[in-house]
Formats: sequence, structure tokens, C-alpha cells
Amino acid sequence: MPTAPKWLNDALEKIAPSFIRLVKVEKSVYLNPHLKKVRLKGNFTSLDFAPGFTISFRVTPTESRHYTVCADDSKKYIEFIAHLHGNAAGADYINNLQPDDQEIKLAVLGSDKQYDPKVEKQLIFGDETSLSLMLSFLPFLKKNNHQFMFYIELEEENMIIPEEIGLYNYTVFSKRDVFRNVEEIQQLTLLNDSEWSDANVILTGNVKSVQNFRKALKLNNHKGRIYVKGYWLEGKKGL
Ligand SMILES: Cc1cc2nc3c(=O)[nH]c(=O)nc-3n(C[C@H](O)[C@H](O)[C@H](O)COP(=O)(O)OP(=O)(O)OC[C@H]3O[C@@H](n4cnc5c(N)ncnc54)[C@H](O)[C@@H]3O)c2cc1C
Repeated sequence: MPTAPKWLNDALEKIAPSFIRLVKVEKSVYLNPHLKKVRLKGNFTSLDFAPGFTISFRVTPTESRHYTVCADDSKKYIEFIAHLHGNAAGADYINNLQPDDQEIKLAVLGSDKQYDPKVEKQLIFGDETSLSLMLSFLPFLKKNNHQFMFYIELEEENMIIPEEIGLYNYTVFSKRDVFRNVEEIQQLTLLNDSEWSDANVILTGNVKSVQNFRKALKLNNHKGRIYVKGYWLEGKKGL
């Protein structure tokens, strides 16, 4: 629930304590002025960090925002990458997180079944908000010898970030280009390659792009599973 009355948020934390961890910021790095990577220290034993593990911060008494774990180490710490897209409750909250900030309440929400180890080919789509998700997939895709591809739509200033954070097998697109238009998506090479017609496709990021991509896959009679999770919608607070 991105927005809820304070009393309800307080009550949820009390009735579901197993979802709450008290964490501390161990480290934070600005990849550039628009993207910040944060490492949180805490007790994460008993959690299974499958790809796409979602966490949530109560960024104000009434607002919560979701982020995705991109790395964990022996359950000692977790990391995530946040898009500082402008002044908004979540972006401001992450921007203000400092090393040694103590006693931060974090909800650990877990992973949907996005990753299917049995499917050989995997295509993952998203934008700045999906970089953490992509990094969380990478070790699983490598370890299990998948054929995989990341399609990432990015603002100009963020286009070198995928390489800097260690992603590979990716194609970068402009945010104002292909994914605005269903017909252009239909013409992408991978969507016309019969070898990829049964790929597992994971669509995240901007809701409009996700909807267009899904439509294009359906029109191209994509046979594989399509997982859809919009991360943000223009003009809407929280998702
Ligand atoms: C399951 C899940 C996992 C997510 N994982 C991540 C993650 O790992 N990293 C990450 O950065 N985000 C992630 N997000 C997206 C993030 O929660 C949203 O971007 C959220 O809206 C940010 O909150 P805010 O308070 O900064 O902006 P809001 O108050 O929610 O929105 C204010 C305005 O900004 C716009 N807006 C919101 N996000 C963006 C954006 N990224 N770019 C441009 N405009 C935007 C909204 O449309 C709205 O008009 C995830 C979302 C979900 C649902």
C-alpha cells in the first residue's frame, strides 16, 4: 500500500513483525547524481533472496515506497539501487539516507515468481528503476547457463550506468523512443527471432512502456510466459 493513514501503517507494522527489519545504512554511493546505491546492514537470516526481492521503506508516516534488492552477502547486508528522479517522498528519502543512519524500519516483502530456471531464454525489460532487478537476476542467469538479454530504456545521462554496474548482454534504448510505440517494439530483432519465441519475458519499469511491450508481444504471438510488473506510472504517486 503506497499510501495509507498513519494509524494503519503503525498497526500493520505491529501485526506483521516478521516482515519488519531494523537496519542501518552501512554505505551509500552515488553512481551519478540520478542513481544511488545503498547498502543496508541487518539481520536477514531466514530470507530467500530470489531475483526481484522487494523491500519497502516507510518514507513518511503515510507513504511507503518499493525498491528491489540487487545484492546480498551471507545474509549480512543487502543493497539496492534507487532512481533519484526528482523531488518526491521516496526519492528524497533515499537521497537523505546517510552511512550510519540507525534504526531504519524496512519491510521485507519477498519475490514474486519472476525467474523460471527451467526456461533457457530470458528477456528482462525495464528502466532506471529496474537496474537493481537486473543485477539480482545476473548471478542466476550466469550460474544456470541461460541465454539472456536485458533491454533497458534510459535517460541520456544514465546510459553508461549498465556497464559501470557490471551488467552485460544488454541493449540500451532512449526513453523517448521505441517503447512509446507498439509497432516499433514489434519490429525489434529479438521479437522476430523464432529462437526467442518461447522466452520468459519480464517487463518492469514505466507502466506505459510495459503495457506497450506486452501488447507487442501478444500481437507477435509470443509463446513464452510474460511477467508484468509496472514500477511507476506517470502522474501517480507510489505503486
Ligand atoms: C515491486 C517494485 C520494485 C521497485 N524497485 C525499484 C528499485 O529497485 N529502484 C527504483 O529506483 N525504483 C523501484 N521501484 C519504483 C519506485 O518505487 C517508484 O519509482 C516510486 O514511485 C518512487 O517513489 P517517489 O516517492 O520517489 O515518487 P512518487 O511520489 O511515487 O511519484 C511522484 C511523481 O514522480 C513520478 N515518478 C515516480 N518514479 C519515477 C521514475 N523512476 N522516473 C520518473 N518519474 C517517476 C510519478 O509518476 C509521479 O508523477 C519499484 C517499484 C515496485 C512496485
